[in-house]
Amino acid sequence: MSPDYASEVLRGWGRSTMSSAHVATVSDRDLIDHVKVADERGVLVRGLGRSYGDAAQNGGGRVLRLASSSSDVRLDESAGTVTAGAGVSLDDLLRVIVPRGFFVPVTPGTRFVTVGGAVAADIHGKNHHLEGSFGNHVRRFSLVLADGSVLECSRKQNPDAFWTTIGGMGLTGVIRDATFGLIGIETSRCRVDTVRCDDFDELIEHMSTGDDDVRYSVAWVDLLSSGSHFGRGVLWRGDHARRDDLPVADRANALEYGPRQVLSVPPVIPGSGVVNALSSAVFNEAWFRKEPRRREGSIKSIPAYFHPLDAVGSWNRLHGRHGFVQYQFVVPFGRESELRRIVEVIVASRLATPLVVLKRFGAGNDAPLSFPMPGWTLTVDLPAGADTLASLTRTLDEIVLEAGGRHYLAKDALLGPAALRAGYPRLAEWQNVRRRLDPQQTFRSDLARRLGLLE
Ligand SMILES: Cc1cc2nc3c(=O)[nH]c(=O)nc-3n(C[C@H](O)[C@H](O)[C@H](O)COP(=O)(O)OP(=O)(O)OC[C@H]3O[C@@H](n4cnc5c(N)ncnc54)[C@H](O)[C@@H]3O)c2cc1C
Repeated sequence: MSPDYASEVLRGWGRSTMSSAHVATVSDRDLIDHVKVADERGVLVRGLGRSYGDAAQNGGGRVLRLASSSSDVRLDESAGTVTAGAGVSLDDLLRVIVPRGFFVPVTPGTRFVTVGGAVAADIHGKNHHLEGSFGNHVRRFSLVLADGSVLECSRKQNPDAFWTTIGGMGLTGVIRDATFGLIGIETSRCRVDTVRCDDFDELIEHMSTGDDDVRYSVAWVDLLSSGSHFGRGVLWRGDHARRDDLPVADRANALEYGPRQVLSVPPVIPGSGVVNALSSAVFNEAWFRKEPRRREGSIKSIPAYFHPLDAVGSWNRLHGRHGFVQYQFVVPFGRESELRRIVEVIVASRLATPLVVLKRFGAGNDAPLSFPMPGWTLTVDLPAGADTLASLTRTLDEIVLEAGGRHYLAKDALLGPAALRAGYPRLAEWQNVRRRLDPQQTFRSDLARRLGLLE
């Protein structure tokens, strides 16, 4: 192994998956040389490691991090697009584009993801029901293939490679840079309406009506309460605030943007961590009660509305040494009874932690491995050390797949090949194009081995 590489244990964000790889940070100039090295365990690019499971790990093989800087960001204000190096984080990007009146087309619940990771997982945000996932907004990208050639990809140029790479989890090549559309904004604040719902039926009813009139919509659900509080939740809907929405004193600096981290969790949290059934139940009660029954038009900053967890550095350590898994699935509209059944099973398990998100997806896109489809997506963190975790997720998998749903690969740590095939009926189509782009299976990952993706 060349001296550029150091052996490193890499984990997913959930800290429940880990493997050791030879890791190097490479400049754009050297990237092709690093890709072309042939070895048995292959190579993978890792972004900021915010996928929860083993998607950004390649045990025993090589893992590349792409060196980046904010000079890799080229904003075209008249076209409303940006071209950024794939290693640039949304955090860096937002610091450049927000003060100039633009916002990313899709943001996940953290700004610490790279452009490459956003394309490779085809990430979705609170605006999916109207504006689709990240790939919908990508105009073009360049892709370094296993033989060192560089393929320009767009809807018109090499469309097969374009759609296979979007949601392709790094297994087609290395995305080097990407151009994508942006949202024009007048301010760096959001205008948010809140509705507190006392039970599951009320929450589903609220979410099913009115989402189409608002750009951003997402709900929190209490997955620990039962009886009359079963499935209670809080729905937040919003959009970017206009200048006139701000108090007069704030209008002069309407595009000011400076997110800060206020706390950081220490590197070592004892034993099984501080998240448990009792602390979670107390948190949920307080969280539900702190929200007003209804409030309209409250003004929140971009970090407070989109990225509240980023205020606490390394919060993923709170689960202790076993870590956690994030279980995220989608079931189609019309399968609300299965969604309810899933919520019942999770509540009965007493394993849910407070971090739960429920959202309605709109139409999917043309990428065969893209996760979103029209329907309900639920995300819940579960402790990886729990004895009953495997039986719980097996039961949930059966309900999800039987309902015609699927699981999100950027979150997954537990699925097997059969469940993947059942959820992604276009898998063979994806595999055919991938095989053509990388016949020697140069690009590999722990996720790909676990799920049999490269067959
Ligand atoms: C707090 C939190 C909230 C989140 N909320 C959401 C959400 O709301 N919606 C959502 O969709 N996701 C969400 N995620 C997941 C996250 O958006 C995805 O996992 C994203 O892919 C992480 O980006 P990354 O740069 O950290 O990539 P990594 O996790 O490092 O890698 C993810 C995949 O991308 C591939 N990859 C990375 N860079 C490249 C490249 N240059 N070329 C080719 N492949 C590449 C990797 O090989 C890997 O397969 C959340 C994660 C966290 C921690």
